[in-house]
Amino acid sequence: MPKALPWIDVPCDCDRYTPLRIDPARGSDDTLACRECGEVKTLTPGKLDEAGGLWGCQVCGHPELYTSKDMPKALGIGIVVIAAILAPWTNYISLFVAAALDFALWYLLPETVSCYLCETEHRGFASKPKHPRFDLQVSDRLKYGKKAVMGKPMREGGTANAPEPEH
Ligand SMILES: [Zn+2]
Repeated sequence: MPKALPWIDVPCDCDRYTPLRIDPARGSDDTLACRECGEVKTLTPGKLDEAGGLWGCQVCGHPELYTSKDMPKALGIGIVVIAAILAPWTNYISLFVAAALDFALWYLLPETVSCYLCETEHRGFASKPKHPRFDLQVSDRLKYGKKAVMGKPMREGGTANAPEPEH
């Protein structure tokens, strides 16, 4: 069975554009249509290597991206709330079970790589180059420019293989 192609999930003003599958050997399409309002977006895809490694956003081309887990917040919180309610009846064992469950889910869930500029979510791309987790200093610089309180200059080549933020 051929490996599923990586894809991007792009927010639109009304809803979301149709998720776009990208074949690394062929590169990204030039346009993307919204499945709700039909608006067509022009793409300026960033660098993508043949192994499916992501070097820039596939919508706006920006080289700064961050990795996060695809964990629905409500699910993680729900598990903890149920465990807390059950705690008095289970001798608090439910809390340990919840912690183990949250950890297992976290471990199993796929990673999403998001663009700092346009918030496009990239899924299923190669794990190299690795983009570190969200860094407020990068986000601040892009939002406020020179006025950013905590901004730090962009590294050459963006966030590809950058070290994890220290804070
Ligand atoms: Zn982008």
